[in-house]
Amino acid sequence: MPVGSVERVVRARLALVEALEPRLRSLVHVDAAGALARAAELDALPEAARGPLHGLVAVVKDNIDVAGQPTACCSPAHDGRAAARDAPVVARLKEAGAVVFSRANMDELAMGASTATSCHGPTHNPWAYGHSPGGSSGGCAAAVAAGIADLAVGTDTGGSVREPASQCGVVGLAPSPGLLPVAGVVPFDPSCDRVGVIAGDLATTARALAVLAGRVPGLTTDPPGAPPRRPSRVGVVRELMGPPNRPGVVAAARAAVERCRTGGADVVEVSVPDAPRALDAYLVLTSLACLPHLEPWVDTGRSGAEVVRRVALGRALAEDPDRVAAAAAVRDRLRAQTAAALARCDVLLSPTMPTTAPAFPPEGPTDAAVADPALAPYTDCWTVVANLVGLPAVSVPAGLADGLPVGVMLTGAAGSDPVLLHAAALVEDPTPLPAEVGADR
Ligand code: GLN
Repeated sequence: MPVGSVERVVRARLALVEALEPRLRSLVHVDAAGALARAAELDALPEAARGPLHGLVAVVKDNIDVAGQPTACCSPAHDGRAAARDAPVVARLKEAGAVVFSRANMDELAMGASTATSCHGPTHNPWAYGHSPGGSSGGCAAAVAAGIADLAVGTDTGGSVREPASQCGVVGLAPSPGLLPVAGVVPFDPSCDRVGVIAGDLATTARALAVLAGRVPGLTTDPPGAPPRRPSRVGVVRELMGPPNRPGVVAAARAAVERCRTGGADVVEVSVPDAPRALDAYLVLTSLACLPHLEPWVDTGRSGAEVVRRVALGRALAEDPDRVAAAAAVRDRLRAQTAAALARCDVLLSPTMPTTAPAFPPEGPTDAAVADPALAPYTDCWTVVANLVGLPAVSVPAGLADGLPVGVMLTGAAGSDPVLLHAAALVEDPTPLPAEVGADR
């Protein structure tokens, strides 16, 4: 980058923020002065001292610590106290030369799939205002899709990185458990929580993953001793290709399978018979597991309806050991079934979610509407499997259906993140950024 160019980039992004944010609402705390000061610092660095993310503009979900800012999780229950230090993932972003530009909007305490439960109001989808960007990391995905940020760091407990990435036409990676540190992130269910990456393309995703995992030098994610194999063996998951997927979503997933074949991959059909039972098991297990972390927020009396509902569900489940045991049994079976499927292929392929971005209800994206379990949460039905069983998964842009982005999800064996990203290159059908951000539909 020539001298002065990080500052030019940051100024351009600030201009975009000014133009778009009044309606888009992807960001909740823009540090314009800090970003410009940081740009000047980066522009002054000699070429040899530049990091692998030099000058990239990043946003961070509101449940991740950034020193000096409150980690409010878009909740009215937060006391406003600022975090003392950066979460390790944020520190690594900064060390690698990124400009950490803003905190991103999210569903309150990462519970939700629409970003409409945020105390700051809903984020809109850059492809179509009035439609959800997905959630809970909807602000992250919308900021990347709108061209405000080059990458975003979010969290994924049941799909919260992959689902908004799918709905906004960008890449969303929930890496293998343990690869990225979760210190400095407000927990939801530690057995499922991951820090994840959202970016406009696979190359930026891979670069960010390498940095966030602490292997800063080099722009590759290849870990020692695990050369990525190519072409991959791709396993199409039978149970995830049918209802409730919408026809346009199935068509995009089938086209992605054809791209894999054309790219030289072997395609097999595999089965994960309990996948349709995963969402219910996820709701049971995570609602119980969230209690020690999220009850104190609810006890303030200020948290929103969805968080209150989940904590109430968790409290009821604490008295219902049979239901919890049944959910744990589903999780055990899913572990065995995904392991058997992955013994036959390198990656599992399915749609990321069954629909494109849903329109907010006509009366507007109210808290009550999105808390209805018949609405938003069902869209997590495929993503939750990877969290329950501890596998890495990525949502890859795979074209449009009815003018809105469709994501295809690849799930790999634990530790196979580089293999996953290589296979993702076969699947990708890069959607351009929306021609006009926020066209009304
Ligand atoms: N939408 C899911 C839920 O509400 C997933 C949330 C997440 O991954 N943080 O539980």
